[in-house]
Amino acid sequence: MEVIEGLNEKQAEAVLYFGSPLLVLAGAGSGKTKVITHKIIFLIKELEIPLDRILAITFTNKAASEMKERVKNYLGLEEEPQWISTFHSFCVKVLRSEAESIGYSRDFIIYDEEDSKKAIKDVVKELNLNSDLYKPERVKHIFSNIKQSLDDTVLEFYSFTMPHLPEIYKKYEEHLAFSNAMDFDDLLINVVKLFNQNPDILKRWQNRFDYILVDEYQDTNKVQHQILKLLVGDRDCITVVGDPQQCIYTWRGANPENILEFEKDFPGTKIIKLERNYRSTEKILSIANKVISGSKGRWKEKILKLWTDRKGGEDIYLIRLDTDKHESGFIGKMIKKIISDEGYSYRDFAVLIRMSYVSRNIEEAFINLKIPYQIVGGVKFFERAEVKDILAYLRFALLPKDTQAFKRIINLPSRGIGDKTIEKIRSFYERDWLQALEDSYNHLSPKIRMRVQEFLEIIETVRKYGNEKPSQMAKYVFDAINYEEYLVSKYPKDYEDRIANVNELFNALKEVERSGKSLLEFLEESSLSQAQDSIQEENSVKIMTVHASKGLEFPVVFIAGLEEGIFPSGRSFEDIEQMEEERRLFYVAITRAKEKLFLTYSKYRAGYGSHYNETKPSRFLQDIKDDLKIISTQRAVRKRSDKVNTTVSSDDLKVGQAVKHDIFGKGVITKIDGNKAVVIFEKVGEKTIRKDFLKI
Ligand code: ATP
Ligand code: MG
Repeated sequence: MEVIEGLNEKQAEAVLYFGSPLLVLAGAGSGKTKVITHKIIFLIKELEIPLDRILAITFTNKAASEMKERVKNYLGLEEEPQWISTFHSFCVKVLRSEAESIGYSRDFIIYDEEDSKKAIKDVVKELNLNSDLYKPERVKHIFSNIKQSLDDTVLEFYSFTMPHLPEIYKKYEEHLAFSNAMDFDDLLINVVKLFNQNPDILKRWQNRFDYILVDEYQDTNKVQHQILKLLVGDRDCITVVGDPQQCIYTWRGANPENILEFEKDFPGTKIIKLERNYRSTEKILSIANKVISGSKGRWKEKILKLWTDRKGGEDIYLIRLDTDKHESGFIGKMIKKIISDEGYSYRDFAVLIRMSYVSRNIEEAFINLKIPYQIVGGVKFFERAEVKDILAYLRFALLPKDTQAFKRIINLPSRGIGDKTIEKIRSFYERDWLQALEDSYNHLSPKIRMRVQEFLEIIETVRKYGNEKPSQMAKYVFDAINYEEYLVSKYPKDYEDRIANVNELFNALKEVERSGKSLLEFLEESSLSQAQDSIQEENSVKIMTVHASKGLEFPVVFIAGLEEGIFPSGRSFEDIEQMEEERRLFYVAITRAKEKLFLTYSKYRAGYGSHYNETKPSRFLQDIKDDLKIISTQRAVRKRSDKVNTTVSSDDLKVGQAVKHDIFGKGVITKIDGNKAVVIFEKVGEKTIRKDFLKI
C-alpha cells in the first residue's frame, strides 16, 4: 500500500490501527508528525472518508499549513483542508457558527494578549486599585489559570494575596461581554460550555467528524482535552501522538502527566511506541538521551529509548567564550566557515536561545558579518504597535463594539480626548461605540467636536469600502491621520523600520484582496498569529527561542547562552517543577539538530546595567560533558584576570582620569560611586563599571 510505503513497522501499525483510541508515545524525531500526516492520507485514500470529515489538530499555525500542503500534494487536491488547524482556530470556527447559543453575536471580537492586558489595566484603574500589586501581566496569567483549570476555587486561592482579584475578574468579564469580545482562553472554554449546555449542538459537531487526530498532545491543557473528549463521545475515532519529555508549556496549563491520563479518559486506549529516530546522528541522540534521563517524571519508563542507524556522526562541541560579544562573533564566524568549507546554506542553520534578550548580541554580530538572519518570534508582526494602530482603525470600523480598538484610536493621533471625555461618550452607549460617539456629539466641547467629526469621517469611509478594498483603506487611514508624521516624532530612532512594517501590512492586505478572504477572516488570523508564523522560506539563519522551535528540525543547530540563570532560567532555581521543564526545554533544543550541534556559553555576560557579570556554565552540561569536544578560550580569560590583578589601586581613580577597559576600550571617568565608576567610553558611551575592572 502506497500510503505506508517507507514507514517502519510501528509507524505503519499506528497508521492502520482503528480498533480503539490510539496513543502514540515516542521521543523526538521518531516520526510522530509523519504518522499523523500519513494517517490522514490513509483515511481519505483508502477508507474514502471525505477530507472535511477529518479533524486534525496541530500545535502551531505553521505545523497546520505544512500538514495541509503535504496532504494536498499527496492527494492532488485543489481544496483547502479547512479542518487541519490549531485548537484555537478550530474553536473560532465552531463559535462563529454557534455564538448565539452562548450569548454572543457571531461577529465576536478576539482579544489577543495585549488587548486583554490593556483591558485589565483599565479595570484596575477604574477600581482605583494598586497597579503595582495588580500588574496586568500577572493578573492576566492568573485569569488564564482560572479559566484553564475549569475550577472557580482557583480564584479564591489567589485572592489570599490579591484580595480584589474577584472584583477585577468580574469587571474584566463584563468588559469582554460589553465589547462582544473573547480572550484566547474564552475561545476554548466557550466551546466546552457550548457543547455541555447544548447536547443537540454537540451531537451535530460529533457527527461532523469521522476521525480526529492530534499532534504534540503533551502540550494540551485540561480544557483542550475536554473538547476532544466531548467531540469523540463514546466512539473510538481518535489518534493522538506526543512525547511527555517535550512538554514545555506547563505555564499554559499543560502537564507531562496529562498524556498518561489519556488512557483513563479514553477507555481501551491502545499505546504504540516508536523507537527509531530518523532525524539526528547517533551522537546527538546520545546526549539527548542523557539529558532527559536526568528527569524525574514518572513517564520516564514509558518512553522507549531511541536508536538510529545514522551511526556516529560529527563531534558535538561545547565552546566557552570570554564574553557574550565573543560568543555571538564566534557563532557568526563558525556559520560562515561551515558554509564555505562544507557547502551548507544559511537556511540550514538555527540559533536557539532560552531567553529572547540573548538575541540582541547575536543580531549585532550577524549584521557585522553580513549574515542574513531572521528572528522568529520576538514581538510578533501583528503585535507591533504600528501594525496594531492601523489595524485597530479597520477593526473598529467593522466592529464598533470593540472597546480596546476604540480606546486605541480615538486619541491617535491626539484629538484632545482623555479619560473624562471617553467616560462622557460611554454614558451614551447603547449599541456600540460609534453610536455612542454620534449621540454624544452635541455634548462634547466645540474644540473636540471638530476632531471627532474628522474621526467619524475616516471611520465612515472605512466602513463603506473596508471589506472590498482593505489595503486601500489601510493606506487611506495612514494618510488621513498623518501617521507617518506621528511615527517620525514618536520614534525618531527607528521610525523607518516602523514605516516598513506598515508597508508590509499593506502588502498583507493586498494578499487578502487577491485571495478572496474577507477582512474579518484576516483580522481573526492576525489575532491568532504565533511566533512560527513569521518563518519565511528565505535563505537565512533562523534565530529563535526554544519554545518557538517546537516540531522543527535543522541540519546545524547552535544553542547559545548555556549559563545558569539563562538556561536554566533564574526562575527555576527554587522551583523543582520549573527546573524539570528547563531540562525538557534543553532536550527539545538538542533534538532539533540533524547533523551538527554546537553548545556555547560565555564566561562574562553584560548585565542589566553596563558592567559584566561572571557567569556559571549551565548545570545541564555536567551530565553530558564527557560526550562533548570542549573548546575554551581560557587563555584569553587568564590574561584578562592577570590584567585585573595588575589594576591600579582603586584609590588612584578619580573623576577626569583616562582609563582603559578590556572590553569597552578607552574612556574617561565622570563619576565615582563607591566601588564603581561611571565612565564615558569612546566607542560605547557611558557605562558604570566596577573600579577593579579599570586600568589607567
Ligand atoms: P518531534 O518530536 O520533534 O515533533 P516527530 O516525532 O514528530 O518529531 P517527525 O518530524 O515526524 O518526528 O520526523 C522527523 C524526521 O524524520 C522528519 O524529517 C521525517 O521526514 C523523518 N522520518 C520520519 N519517519 C521516517 C521514515 N520512516 N523514513 C524516513 N524518514 C522518516
Ligand atoms: Mg512532530
